[in-house]
Amino acid sequence: MTDFLKLAKNGFKLYGLGQRVPLFVLWLLTNRCNIRCVYCNIPYREYKELDTKRSLEVLDEMAEAGTVRVGMYGGEPLVRKDIYALVKRAKENGLITHLYTNGALVERNLDTIKQLDGVFISLDGPEEIHDKYRGKGTFQEAMRAIEVCSKYVPVFIMTVLTNENKSSIQYISDLSSRYGALVNYQPVLQVPSLSTDVTDYKLSHEDLKECIEKILELKNKNPRIALSKTYLKRMLNREPNLQKKGHQLGIVKCWNGTASCQIDADGSVHSCLHINDTEKALNLEENNFKEAFEYLGHCSCTTCNVTCSVEYNFWLSFNPESIINLVKLMAQSKNYQKVAS
Ligand code: SF4
Ligand code: SF4
Repeated sequence: MTDFLKLAKNGFKLYGLGQRVPLFVLWLLTNRCNIRCVYCNIPYREYKELDTKRSLEVLDEMAEAGTVRVGMYGGEPLVRKDIYALVKRAKENGLITHLYTNGALVERNLDTIKQLDGVFISLDGPEEIHDKYRGKGTFQEAMRAIEVCSKYVPVFIMTVLTNENKSSIQYISDLSSRYGALVNYQPVLQVPSLSTDVTDYKLSHEDLKECIEKILELKNKNPRIALSKTYLKRMLNREPNLQKKGHQLGIVKCWNGTASCQIDADGSVHSCLHINDTEKALNLEENNFKEAFEYLGHCSCTTCNVTCSVEYNFWLSFNPESIINLVKLMAQSKNYQKVAS
């Protein structure tokens, strides 16, 4: 079935029949990581992951269930010895396949990288600040990864914003132009079991506003900034404690559990890893992916301060500006080789 027909069929199921379809899946493939970032608890979690055989089956089940895009993250997904086979299977199943990495293991995994539709590389600012958060030498590794990957696939720079690196927003935007990379800014988050206590790094409400104003200003000059103006403007005008049942951040309907889900390293399927400590979930060791997804309820959160994956929710809610933004980004992402060479 062509991609268009697949999308049309799944769109009809979702919007026409009111069925749930796991279009977007984020998969935490492993808790293992080769580095230790100050705000991250993932490498300290229990080491548990689906084996290769089951992971490959899950990718088949995802395609069968209607998944369009899988994002493989961790931990560091490139520490998995079977990562090449997993990406290959995802691509054979016609899934848009993205991988999130700190960059250190990229060069020895180029065959894997070349198969991807895009790679997300973390960079928190200039060397001093990046190495402070992620360990000595990690800045050089990330920069090398951006340089190497941008020869082969679209690169997305992912920046975690804290109260210390907010002045790096311009620096990262300039880098994105230099390498033809897209860029995403993500405020540091307190996430059950995934983050450390981030109180010391958190942006205040005023800081966050200042960051959003800066990103909005840059967005007018740099088309590679991935965040939509709709999201940025709604965040700028948001009351700090605004909440609305079933809405992410109180600003957009949340489709997690309806059109997207996240798989934890142990194989449990959740609407969103921010509620993985409270939500009942089935595990892929014993259950088919579709069954595990359908076990989830529609999002009923009343308190949400989660800023990641928010763009999905705007697309799925047919917000025109964020959809046009997505189309432009897809066009921009094809320019990577031209700019890097
Ligand atoms: S943030 Fe990413 S790279 Fe850093 S320790 Fe956590 S999983 Fe590893
Ligand atoms: S916590 Fe997760 S599932 Fe709940 S509203 Fe926020 S983004 Fe959606």
